[in-house]
Amino acid sequence: MTPLRLTVAGSSSSIPRIGRACSAYLVEDGGFRFTLDFGTGAFANMRQYADYHELDAVVISHMHADHFLDLIPLRYAMKYGAHRRETRLPLWTPPGGEAMLRMMTGAFASEGDDDFLAPFDVHEFDPAKPLPLGDGTLRFAATTHYIDAYAIRYQRNGTSLTYSADTAPDQRVVDLARETNLFLCEATLLAGAIEGGGVRGHSSAAEAAQMAADAGCERLVLTHYGENATPRDLDESARPIFGGAIVVADDHAVLTVAT
Ligand SMILES: [Zn+2]
Ligand SMILES: [Zn+2]
Repeated sequence: MTPLRLTVAGSSSSIPRIGRACSAYLVEDGGFRFTLDFGTGAFANMRQYADYHELDAVVISHMHADHFLDLIPLRYAMKYGAHRRETRLPLWTPPGGEAMLRMMTGAFASEGDDDFLAPFDVHEFDPAKPLPLGDGTLRFAATTHYIDAYAIRYQRNGTSLTYSADTAPDQRVVDLARETNLFLCEATLLAGAIEGGGVRGHSSAAEAAQMAADAGCERLVLTHYGENATPRDLDESARPIFGGAIVVADDHAVLTVAT
């Protein structure tokens, strides 16, 4: 049986770093494979690990383009690609996500489709309720971001990973990530950077490290960074704050959460 494993298909923040995609992560647990987000450019990477006909579900943290835009090429693959799926692909969006997707994909209706999203089985998750997925369970926590966004924890028995989605430092995210084995946390801001206008929606690597420390996480994986920061910058600002293992995500990194 495959151990719980996380593969990074896209580690960039909203502007993709050269040769890198935006947010998308493949989670494999046993024979079940799902993605957390499906951002700009990530489909090409994702296909190397789980192709469109092999995915069991897609879960979207929030409706920013860098977290869902490659659902469009994914849909083309499922409709026109060489491999046929037996069933529609379950797609879980935040509340309001389906209407937003339908509004956007309505622009492609000229090709005569009644329903552009037909290859997906679209659902909206209820952030207040646990969601069984594969052999495990998803739990959600609202984050501090510019639009509604949800951190997501996947757990099976005593093993878990928690994904921050996009967030400024937030106690709700810390609570969700409590003693998780792997905390995948955004580190968008440069150390000391202050977001414009005083409205917070992202974290620095130091702030990500503080959340990981407060939550008692086993391992911190920093992600969602731009071209102004090197992996070394991120590592150096997180290390004095978080005493556990730290990894800076890059596309194609494969991390075993627990065996
Ligand atoms: Zn983002
Ligand atoms: Zn966002």
